[in-house]
Amino acid sequence: MALSKEMTRICLIGAGPSGMSMLYHLAKMEEQGKCIPDVVCYEKQSNCGGLWNFDWRTGVDEHGEPIHGSMYRHLWTNLAKECFELPDYTFDHHFGKSIPSFTTREVTLDYLSGRWKTVNATKFVRLNTIVKNVVYNPDEDNFTVWARDQVEDKDLPSEQFSHIVVATGHFSVPNMPYFKGVETFPGRVLHSHDFRDAREFKGKELLVIGSSFSAEDISLQCVKFGAKSIVCSSRSGPMGFKWPEEIKEKPLLERIEGQTVFFKDGTFTEVDAIIYCTGYKHTFSFLPDNLRLQTENTLYPPNLYKGIVWIKTGNNKLMYIGMQNQYYTMTMFDVQSFWACRVILGEKTLPERDIMETDMSRWIQKLERVTSIPDGIDFQTEYVMDLCGDSGYQHNLDVKDIFQDLNRKRKESIITYKDNVFKSKFTGTVSCKHHKPFMSVFDDSYDAIVN
Ligand code: FAD
Repeated sequence: MALSKEMTRICLIGAGPSGMSMLYHLAKMEEQGKCIPDVVCYEKQSNCGGLWNFDWRTGVDEHGEPIHGSMYRHLWTNLAKECFELPDYTFDHHFGKSIPSFTTREVTLDYLSGRWKTVNATKFVRLNTIVKNVVYNPDEDNFTVWARDQVEDKDLPSEQFSHIVVATGHFSVPNMPYFKGVETFPGRVLHSHDFRDAREFKGKELLVIGSSFSAEDISLQCVKFGAKSIVCSSRSGPMGFKWPEEIKEKPLLERIEGQTVFFKDGTFTEVDAIIYCTGYKHTFSFLPDNLRLQTENTLYPPNLYKGIVWIKTGNNKLMYIGMQNQYYTMTMFDVQSFWACRVILGEKTLPERDIMETDMSRWIQKLERVTSIPDGIDFQTEYVMDLCGDSGYQHNLDVKDIFQDLNRKRKESIITYKDNVFKSKFTGTVSCKHHKPFMSVFDDSYDAIVN
């Protein structure tokens, strides 16, 4: 049965790329003459775009709430744009010409915003409005949401919704493990969430903890902007790249005594600052335990049918978008959103609970066989393609070959991989080259990249 407008009311939390994909599809369906439900999107920041907005603040925002942003000045995408290009709104179409494969934060946000504008998707968003609490009402089979208008500094009257879609991202709340003696360190200790500008570390000797994309990118970024030396230390073994001579890898940090950091292999060195690139925690402070996804950063979080529907409330009306660890990003959020819209609109029926559980177990078993980045790319390609097939998404989003090629080039040379160009699956265009190699571009303004 198709749901009537009166029966269905969606509360979408977060207007980052995931939330905006949901709104894009709803607005598009409305344009096509479909009756779409009432939808309210609460966004705590003053702009749509989530992490792709640059926040100069660290700690708390102007309203005293934790800062969402984790991006920094001079950030270039770590994915070639051909890995996240949206087939119905290509880069060529947006910019009217070919631009380099690796873009910057500002250029990426400009591209995404261009797509949202085509259907005026932002009309559903209430900016500067933070969701504080959500409860499920079993008797009415709906949810009550409490939000706060941060500019007016007042709580809004609570509202009832039939569906909740959580799209609040998961690269915002730092994971900060303790290392013995860290409290004696006299310099700056920060998490990558608070890293804003590599120029702060010019001439400095640094310890970077972790082996994630952040550890890799921030280390290179600091060398590019003049850091004297960097020691990378990780629990999970070396990243294994051919680093510039300023970067050395060490085993796990064992303890800190004043300015000296000691590693498991008995070696030690003095550093001026310590940067934790130790990942993020999935945090949903506005959700009670029975609605809250509790997971580490994995390619298939538990209790989410198709990686989307929270199966623990029983009514399947709480959904999460973009909660997986990510190789695929914008296109994965897009097909997840399309799939969720079709379910909410009653165009797609969910199977019985036992079938959903079998499906989830199948994915989780498959995940156990993923032991490398290439495996992870294949796994997520299969997941994305499963959603494409199941939702009737109009485009084939499989760009596994581009991802694998990119990963090989990264392994070959971490210093130059961002100088490569890739071919768009959707337009056939091979990106143009940057005017200079990544390591020697210091002007990352929109004009420098696009023009
Ligand atoms: P987010 O972008 O995090 O957006 C979530 C939104 O929810 C935010 O706007 C936030 O303000 C809002 N929100 C949170 N809590 C509340 C609340 N209680 N009430 C109301 N609103 C709320 N991806 C790529 O494709 N390419 C890259 O090169 C790339 N580089 C990255 C570099 C860094 C440093 C990081 C941290 C991530 C990077 N990513 C990259 C991945 C990134 O996760 C995705 O591109 C994308 O931003 C995820 O979108 P999202 O909408 O799921 O989450």
